[in-house]
Amino acid sequence: MCLLQNASFIISANHLNELPEDEGLEIAFAGRSNAGKSSAINTLSRQNRLAYVSKQPGRTQLINFFSINDGKSLVDLPGYGFAKVPSAIKAHWQKTLPVYLQERKSLIGLIIVVDIRRSLTELDMKMLDWFAPRQRPIHLLLTKSDKLSRDKALRTLREVKNQVEASWGIPFKTPCSAQLFSSLKKQGIKDAEDIIQKWLSSDKNNIPNPMPKP
Ligand code: GDP
Repeated sequence: MCLLQNASFIISANHLNELPEDEGLEIAFAGRSNAGKSSAINTLSRQNRLAYVSKQPGRTQLINFFSINDGKSLVDLPGYGFAKVPSAIKAHWQKTLPVYLQERKSLIGLIIVVDIRRSLTELDMKMLDWFAPRQRPIHLLLTKSDKLSRDKALRTLREVKNQVEASWGIPFKTPCSAQLFSSLKKQGIKDAEDIIQKWLSSDKNNIPNPMPKP
């Protein structure tokens, strides 16, 4: 059975004090609106409507928690970069997301879903900037890879990996991996599951602590 098959919705949070207790292990999915994040979560959980819950009016701009099992959770972060989101809501998440990414003890890894045709955008970089200094692993899911030729997709994968390693890998020793993915063609599922499985079976005592507050 696949790891995320039993994932079920727990709660939506608009503020950090609404998050579940900071215990257990969680993996967050981030990405630009329309990057394919909900499709990727649904594909990985073999459920058609799991992440749909995050798209219901009112929940799109919230942090949505899904329980996997045994104190392990998947966290769907609000999609960013959508022009129609009111500026007050954008400002709210600009303040809230860095705190979540920098201080949440349970957060052991970040998956950034990137539309392979757009490559890494400035907002994806921001997420990396906030999370990478914690030296916890980051995985880039280059989705919609069915939209490019195999050669072009592999070239983009190399470029993105190099870009991230140059900025965050060496100075911060942040483990960063990347892969091609397609929800449409069901490609890359095993690779993504292996990463999630590895992270969730990590020993919490060996995970670097949150950065000290300045
Ligand atoms: P989100 O806003 O990041 O959650 O994006 P969605 O998962 O809702 O996907 C946005 C659009 O991209 C939808 O029309 C999806 O059908 C399409 N899409 C998502 N993943 C893929 C993929 O792997 N390949 C293709 N061709 N289209 C995809």
